[in-house]
Amino acid sequence: MKYRSTRGNSSYVEFSEAVIEGISPDGGLYVPAEKVTFTDEEQMIMSTLSYGELAKRIIRRYAGDFTDEQIDECVKNAYCPGRFYGHPAPVKTLSDTLNILELWHGPTAAFKDLALQILPEFMKKSLENTGVKEKIVILTATSGDTGKAALEGFKNANGIDVIVFYPKDGVSRMQELQMVTQEGSNVHVAAVIGNFDDAQTGVKKIFGDADYNAKLAAQGIRLSSANSINFGRLLPQIVYYFHAYYELVRRGEISFGEKINFTVPTGNFGNILACYYAAKSGLPVNRIICASNDNKVLADFFATKTYDTHREFLTTISPAMDILISSNFERLLFDASGRASTAVVNMMNSLRENGSYEVESDIFDNISDYFWSSYATEEETKETIKNVYNEFGYLVDPHTAVGLTVYDKYVISSGDTTKTVAVSTASPFKFNASVAEAIFGKENVEGKNEFEILDLLSEKTGLPVPEPLRDIDKKEILHKTVCRPEDMPETVGGFLCSK
Ligand SMILES: *Cc1c(COP(=O)(O)O)cnc(C)c1O
Repeated sequence: MKYRSTRGNSSYVEFSEAVIEGISPDGGLYVPAEKVTFTDEEQMIMSTLSYGELAKRIIRRYAGDFTDEQIDECVKNAYCPGRFYGHPAPVKTLSDTLNILELWHGPTAAFKDLALQILPEFMKKSLENTGVKEKIVILTATSGDTGKAALEGFKNANGIDVIVFYPKDGVSRMQELQMVTQEGSNVHVAAVIGNFDDAQTGVKKIFGDADYNAKLAAQGIRLSSANSINFGRLLPQIVYYFHAYYELVRRGEISFGEKINFTVPTGNFGNILACYYAAKSGLPVNRIICASNDNKVLADFFATKTYDTHREFLTTISPAMDILISSNFERLLFDASGRASTAVVNMMNSLRENGSYEVESDIFDNISDYFWSSYATEEETKETIKNVYNEFGYLVDPHTAVGLTVYDKYVISSGDTTKTVAVSTASPFKFNASVAEAIFGKENVEGKNEFEILDLLSEKTGLPVPEPLRDIDKKEILHKTVCRPEDMPETVGGFLCSK
C-alpha cells in the first residue's frame, strides 16, 4: 500500500514517509493509493479479536512498508495497561437504541490519546524504515487538547523532541496546568502572548521559513507535525469504529451485518473521517451524523453545498470544535469526487482565494449517501447535558452533548430507529465548569475555581475524578517560558540548543 496526495502533484510514497512528512510537498494530504476492503469472512474473524489484535489487523492493511513485528510493537506499546486506564474504548449502553463509545480513558482524558499514543511509535519505526537520521522535532500549536496529548505521547521518545505553543489566555487553567507540569526529558512548552490564531500562525511561519529550516537541517534537525492531517493519526481512529460495532454484535445488541449509525462531534473532521473510511472498507454503517456547534460551517455545507468560512469565529463551551477550516474535509472531497485531484485543487484554491467553494452535485450526492449534519446551540448543548444526566444518570462533556443533540434532531427529522453509537470525545471532568453549571445551575458554581468544581462534580455525582486530572494543581510547574508571537523562532532555537 502506497500513499498519494489528494492534489495529485507529488510522487507516491510509503506509509513511513507519509508519517514523517505529515503533509505532501504539493500541499495536499496523503491518502491510501488503493481501496481497502474487509470482506465478510475477514470481519467474522475480526469480530472475535481483542482491541489490540483488531488494531494490528487493520493497521496491517494500511502500513505497507512496516513489518508484522513493527506493527506488533507499536500496538503493544501504545495500548498496554499503564497508558490507558482500563479498556481504551469501552462501550456503554444507555437505551434500546443509544450507545456511547467512551474515548477518554487515556492519559489526557480526551479522544486524541487514542491516536497520539501510537503516532510516536509509528514515527520511531518510520525513522528506521526510511533511514532518516536527523533529529525530529515535533512542533505544535494547541488550543488545548492536542498539545497535552502530543506531550504525553512523545515524552521520552528517543531521537524526537516535542515543542508545544499555547495561547496564554486561550486555554483553561486545567489545560494550562496539564501542559506546564509535563514531565519528560525531551518536552518543551511555551505560552504565547496572544490567541490561538497567533500561536498557530507563528508555527506555520516557522514551517514555511526555508532559511530557518535550512539552518536547522545543518544542525541535523528536521521539523515535523503531530496535527490531525497526518495519516498516522487517522489510521488508529479507524480501529475504534470497528471495535464499537463488534462489541454490539458480541453483546447481542445487533446481528452481524446489521447497519448502525454513528454520531460524531466534529471540528477538524479527523475523527468522523475515520468513521467514513471504516464504512467504505466494509463496516455496516447506515448514517454518519456530523455534529457541529455554533461554528457551523459543516452543517451549513450540508444544507447548501457551499463551504463558506465568511463568518464570525465564536467561542463556545465545546472549544475543540471551534474551527472554521476543517482540514481533513479535503480527504472526503477527494474520495467523493472519484479521486479527482483537479477538482480538489480547484476547490482548495477557491477556499484560499475566496474563503469558500461550492461542490458539484455528483460530489455532493456521494457525500450525502453517507452523512447527515446539523448543529447544536450553546443552550441546546447545556440542555442535553442536563437531560442525559437526569434521564440516564450519565454524565457527558459539552462536545459529546453536541453529538447527542444533533442525533436527536436527526431522529426527529428522519424517524430512523437504527441502533446508534454516539462517540464521546472527552471526560466530563475535563470540562467540569460547563457540565456542573448545566446540571446544578449557575448559582452552585459561581465563585468557585475549576478544582473546587471538579470536587463538587465528583461529590454530587458519586463519580471519581479521572486520575490524569487529579491533583494537577499540586504538581510542580516545570515550564515557565512566555514569549511574543514574533519571538517564537528564537524560542524554538533556545529550546533546541539548551540540550
Ligand atoms: C479534537 C476534539 C474534537 C474534534 O475532533 P476532530 O477530529 O477535530 O473533528 C471533538 N471533541 C474533543 C473533546 C476534541 O478534543
